[in-house]
Amino acid sequence: MNIFNSTSPLWHPCTQMQSHETMPPIQVVRGQGAYLYKADGTPILDAISSWWVNLHGHSHPVINAAIIDQLGQLEQVMLAGFTHPPIEQLAQRLVEITRPELTRCFFADSGSAAVEVALKMSLQYWHQSDQPQRKTFISLANGYHGETLGSLAVTDIPLFSSQYQPLLIKHLRAPSPDLTLKETGENDDAFLKRQFAALEKLLIEHAEQVCAIIVEPLIQGAAGMKMYPPIYLTWLRRLCDQFHVHLILDEIAVGFGRTGTMFAHEQADITPDFLCLSKGLTAGYLPMSCVMTTENIYQAFYSPQVARGFLHSHSFTGNPLAARAALASLDLFKNEQVLDRNQLLIAAMQKALEKLKPHPHIGHIRQTGMVGAFTLLQANGQPYSAHDSRGQLIAQFAMNKGVLLRPIGHHIYLIPPYCISADEIEHIIDVAQQAIEWAVMQTLSTPLSPTGNISLP
Ligand SMILES: *Cc1c(COP(=O)(O)O)cnc(C)c1O
Repeated sequence: MNIFNSTSPLWHPCTQMQSHETMPPIQVVRGQGAYLYKADGTPILDAISSWWVNLHGHSHPVINAAIIDQLGQLEQVMLAGFTHPPIEQLAQRLVEITRPELTRCFFADSGSAAVEVALKMSLQYWHQSDQPQRKTFISLANGYHGETLGSLAVTDIPLFSSQYQPLLIKHLRAPSPDLTLKETGENDDAFLKRQFAALEKLLIEHAEQVCAIIVEPLIQGAAGMKMYPPIYLTWLRRLCDQFHVHLILDEIAVGFGRTGTMFAHEQADITPDFLCLSKGLTAGYLPMSCVMTTENIYQAFYSPQVARGFLHSHSFTGNPLAARAALASLDLFKNEQVLDRNQLLIAAMQKALEKLKPHPHIGHIRQTGMVGAFTLLQANGQPYSAHDSRGQLIAQFAMNKGVLLRPIGHHIYLIPPYCISADEIEHIIDVAQQAIEWAVMQTLSTPLSPTGNISLP
């Protein structure tokens, strides 16, 4: 059953609304563990953690109980001039679980807002440290940091940004370390060195103007789960130190265990100057983000002058319900040894992905921790054209089989909640394989075909 109705006032995110004529939105009325449920009771296995936010499953009893308990005490209070136990405890806990140099937590409401905070703080730090000529940022090709104007300016996904160019400040952009960009015959090390050398050159040319370099560590998510190894981050930290430039790590998608470790940068044994967290911070329950930073940066704002403070605010900053959800999630990590338990799931995912290797239409099979991805290719090994809509067909096929996939172009990925089983991971990959086999047989007119007319098996 669906409730699509062209008179609905709802305007959906990241959607060409006309596509709902043939693919109406799916009505979900309940969630439990790794499953969402439609009104008629049909289960949907949530292989992408509802846009990468959910960690421990839907409707988790421990998180539900924490929010309900908080609801009976305090639902919201402004955080300027006020404080409350849940947010104090959360800041303390975040400091405890991150590298010792990260001693300060600034809260905001969304991932994009966290990126805005980090950019503004970095710029203001340099202004207040007698280097006001530092006004620009370096980001990476294929990077994604959100869609508000400041964060979109350091995002490189043309589909999301090109319409708004007149509003976006121009920054500097370095090539991506995404390993799928390697040339044939090139080894990983030579490729990474080549990409890094280009970044280094760009920084040297603009060393006195750059506030910070911003990157998504290990996985460029919105570009299609493009991955690179930790060594690149180790080099990056060294380079930033050498030129006295801040390093902003956007762990909005990869934080909280996604890459196998609690935070991705642990694998490179480095500390960022700014760490942006959101999505999994509240285990996907409520909107909240946090920018963690160092004592050195905090001290540059500490002063008797009001205007030297960081005068940024959001109405719902530090919301107590969200803070309780985050605290309950951190309790689960500790009490249920989630990261250790995930090692078994990571191995199961690796084994299941392995089976796809001989498939003639699947390439670039990749995995970092709890994130697995592969790319749909033509039989000759070439990528499909960007206009080819087979990615959508794969999503529709999988949904028909009760699995929620949302390919990015021709990149199919899974980011399952940590409560999933090894069998369910294998099932998702089996369904994805069936979907691919079916989709490659369809003859599609390009661009976008009326996919609703293709009858699904
Ligand atoms: C989702 C995401 C953001 C933006 O977060 P929102 O809460 O959607 O504003 C920023 N950076 C990365 C890496 C993300 O995955």
